[in-house]
Amino acid sequence: MKERKPVVLCLSGHDPTGGAGIQADIEAVASLGAHAATVITAHTVQDSQNVARSVAADAQLLREQLDALLNDLSIAVIKVGLLGDATQPALIAGIAQRIKVPLVLDPVLRAGGGADLASEALLGAMKSALMPVTTVLTPNASEARRLTGLVELDACGAALLAAGCSNVLITGGDEPGEAVVNRWYAAGRTPRTYAWPRLPGSFHGAGCTLAAGLAALLATGLPLPQALADAQAYTQRCLAAATAPGHGRKFPRRIP
Ligand code: PLP
Repeated sequence: MKERKPVVLCLSGHDPTGGAGIQADIEAVASLGAHAATVITAHTVQDSQNVARSVAADAQLLREQLDALLNDLSIAVIKVGLLGDATQPALIAGIAQRIKVPLVLDPVLRAGGGADLASEALLGAMKSALMPVTTVLTPNASEARRLTGLVELDACGAALLAAGCSNVLITGGDEPGEAVVNRWYAAGRTPRTYAWPRLPGSFHGAGCTLAAGLAALLATGLPLPQALADAQAYTQRCLAAATAPGHGRKFPRRIP
């Protein structure tokens, strides 16, 4: 009999372009040897340039879907992306506490095209309910600043650890510079930086690819330092092979 693949429970928004959101999760998770179980937190109207609208999934439907999954599948890791409203963080945190598996949280606050995707209430709920159960938080630099109200990235990393995250990977794709510098913060250890050549063009779904890839690699049993390094390398490969199917940004090629 074939060995079963570990299951990553992905809670993300649906991006109809297929560049980001739940489809990015499914592709990255499948490419890296795990199975994605998927629950949609929000439906969006968007194209490859920007998000026009995000609508939260029905709360009762979300609860029923999660109950059905948790009664059936054995979940190895939870991956959380775009959230629909301020009630969702507590629901997800409750599940994480119940099943006690690593949780990767990609705090999607703003679309690459500029649209705001998180209300102040959602931001607050993410901080108070979800961050204390987060194994790895993966904000980009601007999300790290918005979550903390701080500017300097080392200070943001420290504040996000103090808010309860066990690890924080602040990505630097949205910072200036020839290299993209990502920073890993964990309590009691010196921050570690990773530098990647900056690839030409702009991308839609890079953050989702990284966070979902990381969740998948953790689900397959890689230790965190290796999973962090390998997920970044995977994302870089996907970005290097990216193409633009529409009039906007390039989509990472997550499946060769
Ligand atoms: N739409 C959904 C559903 C997302 O999850 C995300 C990002 O995670 C976006 C849009 C925005 O993606 P990007 O900022 O890469 O364009």
